[in-house]
Amino acid sequence: MSKPGATAEANRQDPKDTIFAKIVAGQIPCKKVYEDDLCLVFDDIAPCAPVHCLIIPKKPIGGVSDLDGEEHKKILGHMMVTIPKVAEIKGIDGYRLVINEGVHGCQSVRWLHIHIIGGKQLSWPPG
Ligand code: IMP
Repeated sequence: MSKPGATAEANRQDPKDTIFAKIVAGQIPCKKVYEDDLCLVFDDIAPCAPVHCLIIPKKPIGGVSDLDGEEHKKILGHMMVTIPKVAEIKGIDGYRLVINEGVHGCQSVRWLHIHIIGGKQLSWPPG
């Protein structure tokens, strides 16, 4: 495992007990990029590129493996169509979207989030 936070314990966490729950609740600060009724976008605290934002649902969803039903389809669809707006706000042309899922996917915060990474020429494949 290359990322210490991505533990089995972290991935058993109730999303409501994660740091992102506190960010959504306004209990801890974030560098907000965009917000609406369904989602929040903020800068990652440990950016891996000149632009590195996280888009998260406001409702507690642990990860991709928890997705189910019409409400989640609406939320995820909304998040996807919000991403180009974030790219425009950040002034990036071309970017990478990443969702880490579960321990083997190196997820460290069990609240669904899509990384938006850009602002430089990225390489492929990732590690
Ligand atoms: P994951 O590893 O895919 O679960 O991504 C979690 C991300 O959340 C990592 O890139 C962390 O740097 C980021 N992160 C953790 N805590 C905070 C915070 O308080 N503010 C902003 N980003 C955070």
